[in-house]
Amino acid sequence: MSLIPEEIITRVLERTDIAELIGSYTPLKRAGKNYKALCPFHNEKTPSFVVTPDKQIFHCFGCGAGGNAISFVVKQERMDFPEAVRFLAAKAGIEVPEKGRDADSQKQNALRDMVFAANAAAVEYFHANLVGGREKEVGVAREYLKTRKLNLDAVKRFKIGYSYDAWDGLTRHLRTKGFDSAIIDNSGLVVTRADGAKKGSYDRFRGRVMFPIFDYRGRPVAFGARALKKDDKAKYINSPETPVYTKGRHLYGLNWAKDALAREDRVIIVEGYLDFIRPFLAGVENVAASQGTALTPDQIRLLRRYTRNVTMLFDMDPAGQSAALRSLDILLEEEMDVKVAALADGEDPDSFIQKFGAEDFRRYVREAKSLFEFKLERLKLEFDVRAAEGRGAILREMLTTIEKVANTSVKSSYLKELRSSLSVNEYEIEAERQNILKKRPALPRPADARTNGPDPALSVGFSSDEEWLLRFIMADARWLKEARAQIDPGDLPGEAARKVLAAAYGLFDEGREAGPAALVGEFADEGLRRKLMAIASEPDTMAPGTAVKAFGDCLKRIRDRGRKGKREQWREKIRQAEKSGDHEALRRAQEEFNQLLKG
Ligand SMILES: [Zn+2]
Repeated sequence: MSLIPEEIITRVLERTDIAELIGSYTPLKRAGKNYKALCPFHNEKTPSFVVTPDKQIFHCFGCGAGGNAISFVVKQERMDFPEAVRFLAAKAGIEVPEKGRDADSQKQNALRDMVFAANAAAVEYFHANLVGGREKEVGVAREYLKTRKLNLDAVKRFKIGYSYDAWDGLTRHLRTKGFDSAIIDNSGLVVTRADGAKKGSYDRFRGRVMFPIFDYRGRPVAFGARALKKDDKAKYINSPETPVYTKGRHLYGLNWAKDALAREDRVIIVEGYLDFIRPFLAGVENVAASQGTALTPDQIRLLRRYTRNVTMLFDMDPAGQSAALRSLDILLEEEMDVKVAALADGEDPDSFIQKFGAEDFRRYVREAKSLFEFKLERLKLEFDVRAAEGRGAILREMLTTIEKVANTSVKSSYLKELRSSLSVNEYEIEAERQNILKKRPALPRPADARTNGPDPALSVGFSSDEEWLLRFIMADARWLKEARAQIDPGDLPGEAARKVLAAAYGLFDEGREAGPAALVGEFADEGLRRKLMAIASEPDTMAPGTAVKAFGDCLKRIRDRGRKGKREQWREKIRQAEKSGDHEALRRAQEEFNQLLKG
C-alpha cells in the first residue's frame, strides 16, 4: 500500500523515541516502566493513556486508541501513513526514497503536483478577480455575495473568487504562469473542443462565483461554481474528475473544520457551500458539507479520523431528504453514531442562522433526534400505525435499519423501544428479523463498500490462550524464539491469531524486531491493530518467576489442541481411504498418523 520501503519504516521507528514524541504534545508522567497522560484523543479527567517506551507503543484504555509512533502521528497530525513516516523521518534525519520508482508512477506524481499547482494558481486568479477586479466586470458577483451576506472577510477567509464572463481569461493566465497545455487540459479547468475543425479549448467556468474545494490538508482539488446569470442552465457546476479529484472523496470545509471536529467530537453534516460557511463564521466550526449528495464510504472514513459522532442536518426538501436517508444506512454500516436534525421545509442552515442566530442553531443541533426516532417518526406519517399492515410495514423498515447497527447494546435498546412504540411483542419482532436476515444475501452491497471494508476474516477475537501467546511473543524475542520452535500458526484455533503469529514468525525469520510496534505495522485492519495494542499494553500482572511456567503451559495447551485437531483430520482421511479402498492412500495416512501420535 505505501510506497515507502519497509526498512525505512523500521529505521524510522527505531530512531524515534515514542515518549519524547508524545511528550512534545501532551505532558507525560512516569508510572513505573510506563508513562501516563491525559489522552489527547478523547476528553478525560483522569489519565488512562499509557505510553510504554520499552515496547515503543501507546494505548488508551479509555477510547481504545493505540499504536506505535507512526500511528500516533497519523492520529495527532491527521496525516495518512506515508505522510506520517515522512514527518518522523524528517525529525530523525532519515531520507525517504520512493519505492515506486518506475517511470509511470514518477510521471503520475509529477502530473498531480502540477495539477495542484495549476489549481492553486486558479484559486489566486479567481480570488484576485473578485477582490481587485473592476466594478464594471465584477459588480454582479459582489452584489450576489452581498445578498448572501458574505462580506470581504468571508471572501478572503474561504478564498471565494469570480470567473470572468470570457472564454480564455484563466487559460491565458495559466499560460503566462508557465503551465503547458497538457497540465491545463488535465486540470479540468478548461473544456477541450471535441470537433476537429476548431481545435483548442476554453475556460470551463465563466461568469460564476467560485468556491475552491480543498482536501483535508488544504490543497486545492476542485471548484464549485455558482451561476449568476438567469439563463445559465445549471445553478452550480463542479470540476470534473482529475488526477487530484475524485467525486465523493472530499468534504467541503474539512480543511478548516477538522480541528473543531476532533475538539467537539462531533461533525454536523450540511449540504452546500453556504450551509458550511454560515455556521462556521458564526462560531459553530464542527461542520462539513457533503455538497448535496449522499455521503460515500470514503467520506465517512475521512470523517472517522476525527470523530464517530455525526449529526445530519438537512433541509427537508425531497432532494435533502433522500440524500439524508441514503447517507444514514452507510453511516450505520461504517459504525458511526448518527443523529438527524431536519430543518423545516424551505429552511437551510444558512437561512436559519441568519434568522435565529448561532445559539438557536447550536440548540437545534443538540436536540437532534436519534436516527431511530427520526426514521420512526417519518414512517408513522407514511403508514397507519393502527392498522396491522401499517405496523408491519413500519416494523420491517425499522428492523432493516436496526440490523445495520453494529453496537449490540444500542441495537437491543432500539429493539426494546421499537417494541413499546409499536406495541408488538418480542416474538413478532424476532419473526420479522429472521425474515430480513434470510433475504439479506440477495442484496449485495455496493462494490466499493465491499472492497474497502475490513477483512472479515480478521474481525474475530482471540481465545484466551491466543491472547497470552501473543502477549508473550510481543514482549520479548526469547518467547518468540521458543514459540517458533514449538508451534505452527496452524495450531491456533483462530484465523486472526494465525495471521498474527505467521507475521511475527516472518519478522523473526528475517532477523527483525517483532515487538508490538513492528507487528502492528504488518496489518491494515484497524480492529486487529487495536486489539494487538490492547493486548500488548495490558499491565503485567504475572508474579515474578512464574512466566516460564505460564508460557510453557500456554504452548502446551495450544499444541495439544492443535494436535487434537490434526488427529481428527487424519482419522477422517483414514476413514475416507478405507471407504474408497485406496490402499496406498490408507498406508500413507496411517503412517503419518502414527508419526503425529509419536511427535
Ligand atoms: Zn483516549
